Amino acid sequence: MDHSSPSDKNLSIQPDTLAMIAKARAEGLEVVWDRAAAQEPQCGFCELGLSCRICVMGPCRIDPFGDGPQRGICGADAHIMVARNLGRMVAGGAAAHSDHGRDLVETLLAVGEGKAPGFGIADTAKLDRLAAEFGVEAELPTLDKAKELALAIMEEYGIKKGYLTFTRRLPEVRLEKWRALGIEPRGVDWEVTEMMHRTHMGVDNDATNLLLQALRVALADGWGGSMIATEISDVLFGTPKPTASQVNLGVLKEDQVNIILHGHSPLVSEMVVRAAQDPKLLARAQELGAKGINVVGLCCTGNEVLMRQGIPMVGNHLVQELALVTGAVETIVVDYQCIMPSLGDLAACYHTKFYTTATKAKFPGAIHLPFSPETGEALGRELVVQAVENFALRRPERVLIPGTPVAQVSGFSVEVIEQALGGTWEPLLTAIKAGQIRGAVGVVGCNNPKVVQDYGHTTLTRKLIENDILVVDTGCAAVAHAKAGFKQAEAAELAGPGLKAVCQALGIPPVLHMGSCVDNTRIINLAAALAQALGVDLDQLPLAAAAPEWYSEKAATIATYAVASGIYTVLGVMPPVLGSSAVTDLLLNGLEAPLGATFAVEPDPTKAADLIMSHIEAKRRGLGLKAR
Ligand code: SF4
Ligand code: SF4
Repeated sequence: MDHSSPSDKNLSIQPDTLAMIAKARAEGLEVVWDRAAAQEPQCGFCELGLSCRICVMGPCRIDPFGDGPQRGICGADAHIMVARNLGRMVAGGAAAHSDHGRDLVETLLAVGEGKAPGFGIADTAKLDRLAAEFGVEAELPTLDKAKELALAIMEEYGIKKGYLTFTRRLPEVRLEKWRALGIEPRGVDWEVTEMMHRTHMGVDNDATNLLLQALRVALADGWGGSMIATEISDVLFGTPKPTASQVNLGVLKEDQVNIILHGHSPLVSEMVVRAAQDPKLLARAQELGAKGINVVGLCCTGNEVLMRQGIPMVGNHLVQELALVTGAVETIVVDYQCIMPSLGDLAACYHTKFYTTATKAKFPGAIHLPFSPETGEALGRELVVQAVENFALRRPERVLIPGTPVAQVSGFSVEVIEQALGGTWEPLLTAIKAGQIRGAVGVVGCNNPKVVQDYGHTTLTRKLIENDILVVDTGCAAVAHAKAGFKQAEAAELAGPGLKAVCQALGIPPVLHMGSCVDNTRIINLAAALAQALGVDLDQLPLAAAAPEWYSEKAATIATYAVASGIYTVLGVMPPVLGSSAVTDLLLNGLEAPLGATFAVEPDPTKAADLIMSHIEAKRRGLGLKAR
């Protein structure tokens, strides 16, 4: 019997999602959309950014209609309140990405010291390039170099002399813009701490000054913590190369042990992927009646192992609970970020075992097996052992795996794109100059139950590629695009004639998967490389970014560092800023003059595409290129 209601069709465009919502309903299980409905109406003060609970004189609210209080108890007005709240949001996102990056650096140090069995240096060329960037001696043996690089990068987090090293990848003219505003990023932790300090009661009470620090902390993420996470992951596990794989709930296998890897870090997940190939564990799985061990990914841990190992992707953010509702998951292993605290309850409704692996991220209903570089390899094996043994407890009558997997190609690192172009950016620039490719857009970010799942991403991207705009993507947007079939070479047929010809010549899809959320730094590195090749600043390029379905603090930080780096960015969900005309005006208009880019907010993805296309044509005119 179909237990879905007609209104369920408004929750997602994905048939596999809708099928599992119906199964959850039939089994009396609560999922994210039920809780979203129970929260209605959501607090209007909070939506406008007009509530504050920074201190316990409060909580305080400001009446947006002018009848009630216009100041918090301390005297903060609407502009201060909104700016402080936004600043803390951006600091939260920067902290999350950057702390993730630190875990990679600690592991690199352990590798260099010979204390991380099972881990090693997978990309020595990248190690050499980074060592040169950070002033590490070129002649050192590989492991010593890894150790010295890790120690040098740790300095990026602290009270650094000067500014973050990766900012030197940018054209000087961009750094001059930051210097003029006083937002050149210093140590990563320094900027996060200063944002938290400034937003304490009675510190920074100037909305513009607060927002400048929000830009600075975001830059410390984009050109600091996140970029460190990406680069060191590549050193440890390899820089991604094009890899064929599959996507959607159909990648779960009825006749195999299913292991889901969820969260953001590749540290545990890489070890699980390796252990799942162990012939002894495969033999044990067969003894228990399984045909194999099927490792799949979710969210950005999924993107990490998809990009490097071709591990199939079961889904994006709003699919995490539904994957367990299939009844076919032996084990879900998580690290941190974007993991719903409801997973423990859902896992308990099935035979599924839920493992947490980060000491800083524990969850109700989970078994905690902590990761360390020293024990990571053994942990990966133990997780697979537990999953295999759990297969015997699966209840086949409760299993329903919807959908047929869709093929996708991922793994488009900046290095691979450059190689595909023959080792120079010239062919891409020539195609852009000729108008074959009008420009490029990063479509990135999350799912949010306020938006029909994947509608925002796929509608925007379809229209962009139809109009000869190359799309690069990361995170949960990339999963949406893969499910829509945009990541197959044949998807070139969906593109306009110019982009189609380029894609067919290179054998690539019109939507290039560049990785996880921290890998948005691959996109800004690409933008910086193109700007350097053309001898211009990033804001002069026909580029844009969009986050049609964002929900997370990290997405707010990414959008902020994109704008501060000179990339026009369109959000599909309004951030909580409308309570202050000053803050809203600064974000939508006031950054254009000093930074050459602004935010825009447009919930309708078709209209968002129009905004982006007109921005790209304006930038083309600015460069003296033919515009439409
Ligand atoms: S910081 Fe001011 S506005 Fe915020 S809770 Fe305290 S008194 Fe209220
Ligand atoms: S894109 Fe958003 S929801 Fe998805 S993993 Fe990243 S931060 Fe989380």
